[in-house]
Amino acid sequence: MNLIFLGPPGAGKGTVAAELKKTSGLDHLSTGDMLREEMKNETELGKIAKEYIESGKLVPDDLIIDMVKNRLENADAGIMFDGFPRTVAQAEALDKIAHIDAVINLTTTIDVIIERIGGRRICRNCGKVYNVSWYHKDTCEDCGGELYTRADDTEETIRTRYDEYLKKTAPLIDYYRVKGIVHDIDANGDIQTKVDAISDIIKG
Ligand code: ADP
Ligand code: ZN
Repeated sequence: MNLIFLGPPGAGKGTVAAELKKTSGLDHLSTGDMLREEMKNETELGKIAKEYIESGKLVPDDLIIDMVKNRLENADAGIMFDGFPRTVAQAEALDKIAHIDAVINLTTTIDVIIERIGGRRICRNCGKVYNVSWYHKDTCEDCGGELYTRADDTEETIRTRYDEYLKKTAPLIDYYRVKGIVHDIDANGDIQTKVDAISDIIKG
């Protein structure tokens, strides 16, 4: 079973995928996390990606597709794709290397996105995502790690990322809709409601 999470930045793709990883037996592949790891390690790819990411633009398709292909070479479980594919070219490349069973389309609005991403804090150690609206400490409740704000989580960059989403990623909804595998989920509900709905889809 392979599934894709679609939806604008801040829709909660990563949060939901991290939660489902605990119960579904599926692996979590986040191209955003992979790119941040490349940046942290100052690899060649990381240096190129940094410029795009910090301005809110998508990283070029060929770089992303190669990165995902490498990662899939040693995959042994089904995968939840989070933040990939983000363009039609990426979707076509993915079709050649994996069978996609379901696409979870998380729907929300720009106001909610700005509020969520604007207040987002992430654990440097385990990656858990918090929001200042409901969490007021500087350290992670799970592992004690320090919380930080992503360099691309500024209001200006969020708008660029949303425009990129509308222009390049939203067309994927129809790309998969015609295959009959899209499930729309309201991203504004609480996490557990979304996780339960998606678990049901995974179980079939
Ligand atoms: P979000 O969904 O909150 O925008 P991600 O962590 O998924 O965050 O992505 C952060 C940034 O990484 C994107 O704005 C983009 O620059 C880059 N990126 C991640 N995945 C892809 C992809 N599949 N194609 C192109 N760029 C990507
Ligand atoms: Zn943590």
